[in-house]
Amino acid sequence: MRQRYSIFSLARNALGFHRNWQRVWRSPPLRDAYDVVIVGAGGHGLAAAYYLAHNHGVTDVAVLDRGWLGGGNIARNTVTIRSNYLRDESIPFFAKSVELYKGLSRELNYNLMFSQRGMIDVVQTYPRLRDLTRRMLAMDIHGSTYRRISVAEVRRRIPPLTGGGPDARMPIIAAMVHPDAAVARHDAVAWGLARAADSYGVALHQNTPVRSLLRGPHGGISGVETERGTIRANKVAVAVSGHTTTITETAGLRLPLKSYNLSAFVSEPVKPLINVVVNCPDIGVYLSQSDKGELVVGGETDPQQSFRRGIKEAVFEDAAAAMLDLFPSFKRLKLLRQWGGCLDFAHDASPIVSATDIPGLFVSAGWWGGFKAVPVGGLTLAHLIATGRPHPLIEPFSLKRFERLEFILESGTTSTR
Ligand SMILES: Cc1cc2nc3c(=O)[nH]c(=O)nc-3n(C[C@H](O)[C@H](O)[C@H](O)COP(=O)(O)OP(=O)(O)OC[C@H]3O[C@@H](n4cnc5c(N)ncnc54)[C@H](O)[C@@H]3O)c2cc1C
Repeated sequence: MRQRYSIFSLARNALGFHRNWQRVWRSPPLRDAYDVVIVGAGGHGLAAAYYLAHNHGVTDVAVLDRGWLGGGNIARNTVTIRSNYLRDESIPFFAKSVELYKGLSRELNYNLMFSQRGMIDVVQTYPRLRDLTRRMLAMDIHGSTYRRISVAEVRRRIPPLTGGGPDARMPIIAAMVHPDAAVARHDAVAWGLARAADSYGVALHQNTPVRSLLRGPHGGISGVETERGTIRANKVAVAVSGHTTTITETAGLRLPLKSYNLSAFVSEPVKPLINVVVNCPDIGVYLSQSDKGELVVGGETDPQQSFRRGIKEAVFEDAAAAMLDLFPSFKRLKLLRQWGGCLDFAHDASPIVSATDIPGLFVSAGWWGGFKAVPVGGLTLAHLIATGRPHPLIEPFSLKRFERLEFILESGTTSTR
């Protein structure tokens, strides 16, 4: 029975000097067979496990992670949640994710610190303005909100945005507001989903690296080989973010994915300065202020493919210089931390949530901006695993689109790719 978190349980446990809290999730012994194995205890793997149990009653599920739960990109991202996409397939998919996020703290009984503060895209070139205007019209058809504001209005809403004046190398010419955009606490998303999945009996196994996928005599998936032994399962889902190809290639499956490092950094905490997410796609930088007061800043991906998780000096310098162009007063800020994460990009920059040519093998990949899609990615992957049929929202995102050349071109949505 999962312990409910509330003001009363907090008061009760305070009286007991906080010694009686239940463990947030169990560490059950590793069995040699499950109905479903999910590789990767990041946002998407945990959300799929939760929705498998919650929506479909499938609870004989093991989630395996090579490290600690929620230690991958879900721990490394800059937490922007938005749905300002261009294509008819993408807009409803990402809008559904924002909608699910809104109710998730209550549903999981875990405070995800979801804050729908909106996002402003600062526009400095006419091609970008044309692109974002097109996006605005496409979103309007789907009932999503994205609208243009004047330069005076953007400066009023973001007081430290003092650069980019009429004489600057790249003056600000307009801005777009996306009020649905939000942020949430990344660790809480992983922990809340893990706790809820565990309460249904899902087995979470940390420190269990998967070496390879196993196929049975008829070619279908039969399990995984891990560093802790063989685990049999007739359904295996791979949700390992940037490392998808390293796993799927062990079963002879090649995917249209490339891996790149994306990096970010945070400043020391300062008083509240900015109450929206600010994205500057023309110069390749975006930022928001965390609840602790740190400015969380992200830049471009590395130009070359790699599985690195560090930060490249040149990429870091470009992002810092771009930020100072528009926010000159930030030159006085001290930086606290910098880091990177390895992401995979499909050739059309849209996600892949799909069955594969190997019966029983499913993939959830191409999540270069996948934090925003954790709830909907998990919901639709769980539907696919449980029913064998794609959820209507992910039907267009299957691997078949690469055979039929039905690409969902979404490159250029942010400063990266
Ligand atoms: C710097 C940065 C900023 C970002 N900013 C944003 C943002 O603002 N908004 C947004 O929407 N997205 C953002 N993203 C992207 C987002 O973080 C990812 O798309 C998303 O987290 C990927 O899904 P996940 O959470 O399932 O991945 P992960 O958390 O990476 O989960 C995958 C898990 O698989 C495990 N794994 C890998 N190989 C194996 C193996 N062989 N065996 C077992 N386990 C394995 C890993 O340990 C990891 O825990 C950002 C990413 C980075 C790096």
